[in-house]
Amino acid sequence: MSLRVDVLLPRRLQSALAYTTPDPELVPGDFVAVPLGKREEIGCVWDAAEVVMARLPADLAFPPPKPVDPSRLRPVSRRIDAPGLPETLRCFVDWVSAYTLAPQGMVLAMAMRGWTPAPPKSVRLWRLASPGHPPKLTAARQKVLDAASAKPMSIKALAEKAGVSPAVISACIKLNLLEAAPAEPAFRDEAIKVPQPPTLSASQETIARSLRDIVRKQQFEAILLEGVTGSGKTEVYLEAVQECLTLERQSLVLLPEIALSTQWISRFTRRFGFAPLVWHSSMGDGHRRRVWQHVRSGAPCVVVGARSALFLPFTDLGLIIVDEEHEPAFKQEEGVIYHGRDMAVLRARQATVPVMLVSATPSLETLANVQAGRYRHLVLPDRHAGAALPDVRALDMRLAPPSRGQFLSPTLLSACRETLARGEQAMLFLNRRGYAPLTLCRQCGHRIECPKCTAWLVEHRAQRRMVCHHCEYTMPIPTQCPSCAATESLVPVGPGIERVTEEVQRELAGVRILVMSSDSLVSAEAARIAVTQIAQQEVDLIIGTQLVAKGWHFPHLTLVGVVDADLGLNGGDLRAAERTVQLLQQVGGRAGREARPGTVLLQTYLPDHPAMKALVSQDFHHFMTQEAANRRPGFWPPFGRLAALIVSAGTPESADALARALSDMAPKGEGLEVLGPAPAPLTKLRGRHRRRLLLRTRKGIAVQPLLRLWLQKLRLKSDQKIVVDIDPVSFF
Ligand code: ADP
Ligand code: ZN
Repeated sequence: MSLRVDVLLPRRLQSALAYTTPDPELVPGDFVAVPLGKREEIGCVWDAAEVVMARLPADLAFPPPKPVDPSRLRPVSRRIDAPGLPETLRCFVDWVSAYTLAPQGMVLAMAMRGWTPAPPKSVRLWRLASPGHPPKLTAARQKVLDAASAKPMSIKALAEKAGVSPAVISACIKLNLLEAAPAEPAFRDEAIKVPQPPTLSASQETIARSLRDIVRKQQFEAILLEGVTGSGKTEVYLEAVQECLTLERQSLVLLPEIALSTQWISRFTRRFGFAPLVWHSSMGDGHRRRVWQHVRSGAPCVVVGARSALFLPFTDLGLIIVDEEHEPAFKQEEGVIYHGRDMAVLRARQATVPVMLVSATPSLETLANVQAGRYRHLVLPDRHAGAALPDVRALDMRLAPPSRGQFLSPTLLSACRETLARGEQAMLFLNRRGYAPLTLCRQCGHRIECPKCTAWLVEHRAQRRMVCHHCEYTMPIPTQCPSCAATESLVPVGPGIERVTEEVQRELAGVRILVMSSDSLVSAEAARIAVTQIAQQEVDLIIGTQLVAKGWHFPHLTLVGVVDADLGLNGGDLRAAERTVQLLQQVGGRAGREARPGTVLLQTYLPDHPAMKALVSQDFHHFMTQEAANRRPGFWPPFGRLAALIVSAGTPESADALARALSDMAPKGEGLEVLGPAPAPLTKLRGRHRRRLLLRTRKGIAVQPLLRLWLQKLRLKSDQKIVVDIDPVSFF
């Protein structure tokens, strides 16, 4: 008898496909090979559509696809002998797909990154056996002994090195001339050293005790752990992780910039005596597989990762932590568009475990949840060990402007000089890579633009190229104007960090500069070197983009200068002011983290802007109360909901036609409103023409069913595409 079975494939498929199987033992979660067209694909046996719908909340459920005629179903080829996908992860996949409207198969693909059909085979390694008097040897065997050493090698590698066949190596093994090297641990630096937990201060201990209690209960609860930069939030949440390890369960810590977080990892390793399991997109496949297997095995562990770590197959999850919860980097903007913080809360709820959101400047969304009584609020009020918060001042650039063609005001330059003269370090922050954001022809006014995007090309002088920051387009720096052919007429307009570096070299002779941007800090290793150079004071001044805002701790850094504090306030982004305050407070928080007091200088043309006032007064909560008051009347998030529809097409006409069609069919009703269509700020991106619509609803209106109905009615032409972004964070 053959049974019907649903199989979800890790590709752009809305839901599982139906197959048949004679095997009554096949259960949801099992991996199977199935025919798809002429190929064979690997997928996961999925729960029946009714089960999937039943476990979704009512406002996310949707009608299951029509059943296929059973006579047309093809059989599953075979079951793959590997641990299956746990039910909690399948639920999570369903929920994320229903919430974001991303195809279920694409969400499964994220859960299968790192999956492998069989446990990774460990290659046995061989080394020279302890020297004795070997019997008389053939020439080939002698070659093997010459090639082998104490360093373990695989049979293949040893055969290659000795220039013999693998059979000769096997013979040497039989004769005990070679011995097997002890198996390497899966994670080499996991070797247990002596853990060095800190002695917590009284206020830290009070919070740590609450967190430990919460972990011990193993129930769903969301906590906001708030504390100024340097108050010891990390030390305190690591106590919660410790408690979870004591329960022999698994913890997940999400960090926004994990690839460069070498300081965090070494701090963790010192604290616990072993390294965490690191998970992010630039890890190799072998590492990924080992982490996936380890997590799937249910063995206690601590994973520290990017948002994609939420899709690991935890089978004994006990705690989730989201550090820097306000960071926009937690939002994934491509493929499955989801917010890592929000999905972390959901994952914790499904696993009935606590989730801790950590920040010095929590998002308005999280603060609203605290106010509504949904999240518990724990606060660390002061910097650790009596360190004071830095003194923050706005430098009004209208009153004391920099010299012509320069970007650093006299006040900021002399503050740098004084800081360096005291033997301390300074940091200049400008969130702009390259030399200048715009290159202009003085003769004809032509601006050098990307041919594929509505964006200027940015000069990167070090690489001698013009680069588009939105696509991969680059070209050599032209010697004449591409439009009027005038020579020596092209001038850079505005500063990027390369230009600021040049200015510092000119103004502060002999200063040792380190640049921290995604162009220079390309790997964990580069980050490690930079951190060491800064700690050993081989560097006087750091110049960086938003990378410098991340949790770094530089003991000798006492001055932070923000070159253009107004930069993030431009544009129509609803969170522009909130983000500016969060980012600049984070950057400023790098100053004076130890005994010597810190200073933060903000160069601004808008000293009266609420964001600048909030930074100077350091009254974050007052500012957020104002922000809430601004957003509440218009039902902007978090007081209402947004969903963005980004239309793109091969021609402007086609994009307009689709945008109009969408607009004509827009849902209508009480408490909802459709804004647009309007050209997207990036009207052209990678050669595609873009329009945006925004659905804004009151709280309590389920947007997913509205969107499903709306989109169902459309027939797209082959060049047209619609991307749905629920709870948008970026408005490009
Ligand atoms: P936050 O996460 O709030 O910015 P951290 O946990 O990074 O703060 O702490 C700031 C600095 O103070 C770190 O170098 C940390 O090691 C140190 N620190 C915090 N609490 C303690 C403590 N109880 N004992 C020793 N050092 C501490
Ligand atoms: Zn481009």
